[in-house]
Amino acid sequence: MILGFVEWEAGEPLETSLQMLTLARDVADQTGTSLAAVAFGEEGAAVADHLGEYGVERVHHVADDRLTPYAPAAWGQALADLLEDHRPEAVLAPGTDRCQEVLAHVGATCDLPMAADCTAVEAGDAYEVTRHRWGGSLVEHARLEASTKLLSTAVHEVPIEPADVPTDPTVHTVEPTVDAEDLRVQVDRREESDVEGVPLGEARVVVGGGRGVGGPEDFDQLEELADLLDGALGSSRAAVNEGWRPHDDQIGLTGTKITPDIYIACGISGAVQHWVGCKGADTVLAINTDPEAAIMQKGEYAVVGDLHEIVPELNEALREREG
Ligand SMILES: Cc1cc2nc3c(=O)[nH]c(=O)nc-3n(C[C@H](O)[C@H](O)[C@H](O)COP(=O)(O)OP(=O)(O)OC[C@H]3O[C@@H](n4cnc5c(N)ncnc54)[C@H](O)[C@@H]3O)c2cc1C
Repeated sequence: MILGFVEWEAGEPLETSLQMLTLARDVADQTGTSLAAVAFGEEGAAVADHLGEYGVERVHHVADDRLTPYAPAAWGQALADLLEDHRPEAVLAPGTDRCQEVLAHVGATCDLPMAADCTAVEAGDAYEVTRHRWGGSLVEHARLEASTKLLSTAVHEVPIEPADVPTDPTVHTVEPTVDAEDLRVQVDRREESDVEGVPLGEARVVVGGGRGVGGPEDFDQLEELADLLDGALGSSRAAVNEGWRPHDDQIGLTGTKITPDIYIACGISGAVQHWVGCKGADTVLAINTDPEAAIMQKGEYAVVGDLHEIVPELNEALREREG
């Protein structure tokens, strides 16, 4: 059995989980074994309705109320229990922060190695995996040998493909053996982001601002540009560290990875940690006073100049066109 760890929102699997299931099904096909999934929380069972399309035959639903708010060690223990009971050939999880954390707990508890951010697997006795390092700026080929292989999939790197033959998954309730110690770290409240409009990770147009914007109030021009293009506003970590923008806006290695049709980067140097978050854009247009800035070399279009002059002119032209 290959086991996929599925994250969901409002009873539906997240895109990153479907990407993972696509790779997991490929591994199951290669090894001639079945594909199962595990889901936590009250709507975990409802998720099963969406997983047949991806070839999942069995869903393990961890229904313990104590584990409904995210608790990394407890979720890891629940997965470790499943490993003990079912001895899967491999466990795959999407490379989100949470899933990486949980998988790391499983590795530590079960003394198993883990390969993070994989994009492809050749399954034999050992698995030959292709994986991203440094946010994708380095591609590594590695060999994973273990009784159960633990792998996470690089986010937005495996295109989602439904199974040729859909399945009708059965749901099995799991009762994990967690104790108070496993629940020492647990989410106790959630705050909704006050960022409005299109989510950064899904936007077709993104306008990003960096230290070159110069201050929080100067982001208004960029926000207007994003609005005129029905896009989302993002920023570099420098702008977040300055307190000009919320962390939700951060693009990069430790922020959101974006995949828009066009990314307009204003006053951003294009450090590698920023680039790995925006290189999934079809087109990058950089506006920068420094023609030597890394982003000016890497992007498709470079406008040399002061963003405080160029962005208002762009807005003006777009407003005129709209009018
Ligand atoms: C572990 C780690 C993780 C990191 N993760 C991230 C991450 O997720 N995302 C991220 O962004 N960074 C990240 N960083 C930080 C990263 O290394 C850079 O420091 C950061 O991206 C720089 O931000 P910036 O380009 O806005 O600022 P700077 O590097 O200071 O660049 C500012 C740019 O603005 C230009 N400029 C100045 N004035 C103007 C003007 N008037 N008009 C036009 N252009 C102008 C300058 O020429 C310059 O190119 C991380 C670093 C580390 C160590």
